[in-house]
Amino acid sequence: MKVYLSTFGCRANHYDSEVVRAVLERGGAEIVADPSIADTAVFNSCAVTAEAEADLRRGVRRVARLRPGIRTVVMGCASARDPEGVRALPGVTVVFAGAGGARVAAAVGIDASGAPPARQGGTRALLRIQDGCDEHCTFCATTLARGANRSRPVAELVTEAERLAEHHPEIVLTGVHIGTYGADTGVSLGALVDGLVRAVPSVRFRLSSVEATEVDDRLRERLAAGDGGLTPYLHAPLQSGSDRVLRRMGRHWYTAASYACAVERIVRDASVFGLGADVIAGFPGETEEEHRATHALVSSLPFTGLHVFPYSVRQGTAAERLSERVNGNDVARRARDLRELGESCARAYRARRAGSAADVVVIGNRAHRSGLTEDDLSVIPTDDALPRGARVRARLELTDGVLFARPDPL
Ligand code: SF4
Repeated sequence: MKVYLSTFGCRANHYDSEVVRAVLERGGAEIVADPSIADTAVFNSCAVTAEAEADLRRGVRRVARLRPGIRTVVMGCASARDPEGVRALPGVTVVFAGAGGARVAAAVGIDASGAPPARQGGTRALLRIQDGCDEHCTFCATTLARGANRSRPVAELVTEAERLAEHHPEIVLTGVHIGTYGADTGVSLGALVDGLVRAVPSVRFRLSSVEATEVDDRLRERLAAGDGGLTPYLHAPLQSGSDRVLRRMGRHWYTAASYACAVERIVRDASVFGLGADVIAGFPGETEEEHRATHALVSSLPFTGLHVFPYSVRQGTAAERLSERVNGNDVARRARDLRELGESCARAYRARRAGSAADVVVIGNRAHRSGLTEDDLSVIPTDDALPRGARVRARLELTDGVLFARPDPL
């Protein structure tokens, strides 16, 4: 059986699709990149923005056009939010919310037994440690789609990480709200990371996205250790630098001041540290002054990059009912302001890193070989002979704004 597998959205979704790929391949299926020769199509959908749901609809229609009569299975967040709408798309025979290698296998008539994959498609492996979220940010559709926080057992994660380490130099710990890992089982994220780093010393672990105020002392020490176990990198969603806007977003667990305090506490002991954040521009009710407060807060903290999202209305979210919409031109201008700020932070950090040493993992295929440092800098390895997946110590050199990684002589 030939199966076309298409994934939209976050790392948690990509992890779930890796599990589906492994289950199908173990069951004898062949994963094909061309839907026109596929017997079945499987889509792992996303609902984080209206655009993501539109991408799914376009993808399903295209497959039905290219391969009339194909059976299509749709899983993921858009299926959870609008099952009837998804079921109405051409060729769709099975729709279910969330993840599920076994459910996909059952839907296409394949035996689904066996463990998650030991080898994934990318150079860096993904490991989903939890699912769902107990918070209710007013703009967020994900929490509606993925349900409450559910943490995977430590022993299961250690076993899976050991298997992944045989094929991957880096493992990215992901989920929907990983900062609340263990809130339902009594094991903190810091304890999990400690356990993983000790049990699997041959790889480096990276945290995907963690709320700054959810980093406990144990995790902070790991982040600052600089021993190659956990990368000194944090992507800590900020969303806004205005307490009033944070309250309208339902982000009750931090203020601008407590966020800044948490970040300063985390990065103060680290000589090398990559710090990113998500920021929403133009949230309903945001004034020009509050936009400037966000800009000022970002400027005051040691960010090395920024993900900026112009606010987009999500049907069915609480924010959809909020008044005082910011007009489109102001939303676009504010997003541009923040992106420019993020880029200048990134440029300044690359310049500061030039001349210093880095722990580089070589990623990408032969045509697009690049490297990723421990603090999440994208670099160009100067040695073309380095194979994909190699992990080397290197010296960083900055030329025309581009960082090159010259491996240290052995
Ligand atoms: S913390 Fe907020 S934005 Fe993140 S998944 Fe939960 S509800 Fe959504």
